[in-house]
Amino acid sequence: MDELPEFQKNVLEVLRQPLEDREITISRVNGSLTFPSNFMLITALNPCPCGHYPDSNRCHCSEESIKRYLGRISGPLLDRIDLHVEAAAVKYENLNDSRKGDTSAVIRERVILALKRQQARYKNEGIHFNSQLSASQIEKYCVIDENGKKLLKAAFDKLNLSARSYHRILKICRTIADLAGSEDIKVNHITEAIQYRSLDRKYWD
Ligand SMILES: [Zn+2]
Repeated sequence: MDELPEFQKNVLEVLRQPLEDREITISRVNGSLTFPSNFMLITALNPCPCGHYPDSNRCHCSEESIKRYLGRISGPLLDRIDLHVEAAAVKYENLNDSRKGDTSAVIRERVILALKRQQARYKNEGIHFNSQLSASQIEKYCVIDENGKKLLKAAFDKLNLSARSYHRILKICRTIADLAGSEDIKVNHITEAIQYRSLDRKYWD
């Protein structure tokens, strides 16, 4: 869904149930029916109507209009989106940057290994992916040490995160560790997972 705030608010709010339960219930006078609705939501938006905020040289939107624009995306909807990434405009100096990241082929290999790791771990659980972990399975498979717990607690207090996001962050930690080829969740995996939940605090608070 490109330009997320351009969708009607009631359309956006309908996403909450399937994002949480992987099914959707349609209620009419004569009864209600529940359908499977398992999908991956990928969405993009500008931080203001003109698209240039926070660049104050180019963005002339009023504070009020920015607030109204971002306000179309509710907190509960944001809370159900696991990875928030800011794509800042590329500076001219960086266009010629000769540093190379990993190629898609290398990343693909890493993803396949992470999937295999999950399938082996959950072979007796009846699930395939970290995203499917229940609360009790999270306790079993997303174990973090004392330092990690302290770090998470500090992040929760600072970012005022919800109980729902706590479980979601632990699953992201698990996935980051899997991508790094690590059976243990380490502090740097936790820091990275928290960072994906910091953007809403930057723009929506
Ligand atoms: Zn603007």
